[in-house]
Amino acid sequence: MVDVDAVVVGSGPNGLAAAVTLARAGLSVRVFEGADYVGGAAATRELTLPGFLHDVGSAVHPMALASPFFQQFGLTERVPMVIPEVSYGHPLPGGRAGLAYRDLDRAVEALGPDGRAWRQLFAPLIEHVDALTSFTGANLLRIPRSPLDALRFGLRTLEQGTPAWNLRFSRDVAPAMLAGVAAHSVGRMPGLATSGTGMTLATYAHAYGWPIPVGGSQSIVDALVDDLVAHGGSVETGRRITSLAELPASRVTLLDVGPRAFADMAELPASYRSAVSRFRYGNGVAKLDLALRDPVPWTNPGLRRTGTVHLGGTRADIARSELEVSRGKHPDHPYVLLSQPTLFDASRAPEGQHTVWAYTHVPKGSDRDMSEAIIDTIEASAPGFRDTILARTTSTAAGMERANPNLVGGDISGGAVTLTQLVKRPVVSPHPWDTPIDGVYLCSSSTSPGPSVSGLPGWYAARRALSERFGIRA
Ligand SMILES: Cc1cc2nc3c(=O)[nH]c(=O)nc-3n(C[C@H](O)[C@H](O)[C@H](O)COP(=O)(O)OP(=O)(O)OC[C@H]3O[C@@H](n4cnc5c(N)ncnc54)[C@H](O)[C@@H]3O)c2cc1C
Repeated sequence: MVDVDAVVVGSGPNGLAAAVTLARAGLSVRVFEGADYVGGAAATRELTLPGFLHDVGSAVHPMALASPFFQQFGLTERVPMVIPEVSYGHPLPGGRAGLAYRDLDRAVEALGPDGRAWRQLFAPLIEHVDALTSFTGANLLRIPRSPLDALRFGLRTLEQGTPAWNLRFSRDVAPAMLAGVAAHSVGRMPGLATSGTGMTLATYAHAYGWPIPVGGSQSIVDALVDDLVAHGGSVETGRRITSLAELPASRVTLLDVGPRAFADMAELPASYRSAVSRFRYGNGVAKLDLALRDPVPWTNPGLRRTGTVHLGGTRADIARSELEVSRGKHPDHPYVLLSQPTLFDASRAPEGQHTVWAYTHVPKGSDRDMSEAIIDTIEASAPGFRDTILARTTSTAAGMERANPNLVGGDISGGAVTLTQLVKRPVVSPHPWDTPIDGVYLCSSSTSPGPSVSGLPGWYAARRALSERFGIRA
């Protein structure tokens, strides 16, 4: 006797993508969320002052535009997205800045002598962007649908992930821009995993742009919840699940949790328990949310045209600070990733005022407040920035995990992004969402294809559950 067809634990974008997929297939679905709000690391909240809305986690969403799940869901018809003219910017000493115009021709022109090399690197990937998504947005154990495109991507990833990365460009701007995007995945550089992330994100910068959802990432979450409810599903907040036995009887259970959290919730065979105990979490982030009186006073005016700014200096500087983090240190001159959504979405702050979301990388589990280091880094490229701050809220890496247990040690990727762990996510299997318990699946970003607001781990896990347990090919 079952109470409900499907139970989902966790309402992050992957839990909700799974829930929507199951509900749309005609199943009754109940979602249980531990926090008192929905959305996990894609929620948006008033974190500083009344009327200032801050993204708790994800802020900029190229992966959502590329995701086949969100394309089928019709995300862009449901959530207005602003696509800045410049996808990301990168200030450099002397008031210079790299500007990744969404339009490839403009980006090439802005890069001057290195423009041609930039075009050669990205134009073939942009032209075959669907093939790129089909390769990087799937279980890497699968044979690529287009081996030639996978090879093209692989060769470029190899070039930018090895000491050969310095051969292509003659100036420091393009390499710094590539380091800024590669560092999204937190790891040593050059390296294949960071390079693959950088190549994918930089390709999307020209193919789709880097969109900012009006109202914040919460708008994406709300669209998923609305769809779930419209298909008869429900979400209950404030229900932290510690054991599978606490859940209502169901035909399938999907867990938007990490593999180690799952191991604490259930009796598991020793072989699976040992496999997930080898799953590694990466280093963490320390975050700062600011309410500002004025926009960031960047020295380089081009940076006022982008939603995302990477700070931390040249490629060599960023590689050095990332190496320090990997050795357990807090860098003096850190890499900082900054989003300034209110330049494009006035709904997130009182009239004329602004928000900034910024984070830096720190060793896993760090409880060090990095706000001063982040502010100093921004101030170096935007003198007078400090004087615009009205209020701040800071979050350490350890604090991130206290707020959301999926962010183990402050790891925002749900597990270290290494080449091994892109294949073993969380176990080596053509169906890595399966668990040894019948009808129970993992669906968080700790499963293939990994982090970002793409909904893909949830979608794949739900499709697997539908086909295995209900004979439905979704
Ligand atoms: C600071 C930060 C910045 C980021 N920036 C970006 C970005 O700009 N773009 C992008 O695409 N991605 C970004 N990401 C990554 C992205 O947010 C995550 O990859 C994505 O949210 C993962 O979704 P998820 O559903 O797997 O997990 P989560 O979003 O972490 O959601 C998991 C949910 O499950 C709940 N939960 C966990 N355990 C239990 C339990 N036992 N019982 C009940 N509920 C439980 C949690 O409370 C949480 O709500 C960022 C993440 C962070 C933290």
